[in-house]
Amino acid sequence: MLRHFVHLLFAAALAAATATAQPVIVRTSTLIDGRGHVLKNKELTIENGRITGIGDAHQKPSIDLSGLTVMPGWIDTHIHATWYFNAEERLEQGGRGSKSTPQQAALYAAANLYATLMGGFTTVQSVGAELDADLRARIAGGTIPGPRVLTSLRQVNENTGDPARIRAYVQKMKSDSADLVKIFATASIRDGGKMTMTPEQLNAACGEAKAQGLRTLVHAHSSDGARASVEAGCTTIEHGTFLDDATLELMARRGTFFDPNFLVLHNYLDNKPKFLGIGNYTEEGFAAMEKGLPLVAQVLRRARAHNVKVVLGTDGVAGAHGHNAEEFIYRVKEGGDQPMDAITSGTSVAAESLGMGGQIGSIAEGLQADLVAVQGDPLADITAVRHVAFVMKGGKIYKYAPR
Ligand SMILES: [Zn+2]
Repeated sequence: MLRHFVHLLFAAALAAATATAQPVIVRTSTLIDGRGHVLKNKELTIENGRITGIGDAHQKPSIDLSGLTVMPGWIDTHIHATWYFNAEERLEQGGRGSKSTPQQAALYAAANLYATLMGGFTTVQSVGAELDADLRARIAGGTIPGPRVLTSLRQVNENTGDPARIRAYVQKMKSDSADLVKIFATASIRDGGKMTMTPEQLNAACGEAKAQGLRTLVHAHSSDGARASVEAGCTTIEHGTFLDDATLELMARRGTFFDPNFLVLHNYLDNKPKFLGIGNYTEEGFAAMEKGLPLVAQVLRRARAHNVKVVLGTDGVAGAHGHNAEEFIYRVKEGGDQPMDAITSGTSVAAESLGMGGQIGSIAEGLQADLVAVQGDPLADITAVRHVAFVMKGGKIYKYAPR
């Protein structure tokens, strides 16, 4: 009797396992694989959240994305998930001095991440706030919808302390579950972008991060700040507004990733009244950002000429969440990128910079089933990235709005 019952249980368990392993077939007519290739008339087999096959289309599809352009879920390597405009349409970052309650701030952040996912981004790196850890956990647990979140939790800057203090601070970040270390090697562009941390401080921050197995993302506008960071072994340079060719050449040689951000500057300028008068968001600060835009366009062109590995990050703050894909458009229209290069920056190269190239950022066997499909052909007209019709993350559909 007991044996019979055990058999029944076993049969039921087997049936359940078979049910979850039932493959999903996704039909595509145009597929950009994230590694620079266009594939025609393929079908993807998806099992247990992963891509297990790519072949010529011949089966009856579970999901038919014919007519759309299918890409790997996009990756934004630099956002600030917790920044929002409050009820008075002014910038807030939660925390002290906010008019919103902590509960409201948390909901704004969750809404930001939901908008980002609906905009086609299935992975983001938030750099970062304490709340990110909870958002990361809830999203990973499937209880709130959003992109996969990586976070630095906090930042290292010139005031963090001497090298010994910085090392202890980085160790604490690691034990508090940070995915990376965010470092400010220079001032904000609104304050001139000059180097602020010493080489000794940068060596401590990047060196300790490496010892802890953490990547480093360095905010740097000026060449001296960036150069010292690259020499300290950092993973990625953000912004890079004033980088000279020698620094770009060094980055190419060292394999340092580069993330010039256009959306952040446009977003500030487009939403000026919502920021003006807060901290360094002064008239002078806005003038500096306006002057920065053509410099960013120029540095991206020079970085490409030097074969620097370019990733896609928006530095998305309040107002930018959900519009992250505008970065692709600015990269092409202002920075002179080929559409395919911009897409690769936001997929496989971004994944590589996160140390996740074997999991996300490409449509390939064994990788997470993270897909975005858009109406139109982004290789012919990059603004097609605005028309997201389908979003899948880890095999789960979050958006399906075919025409
Ligand atoms: Zn930032």
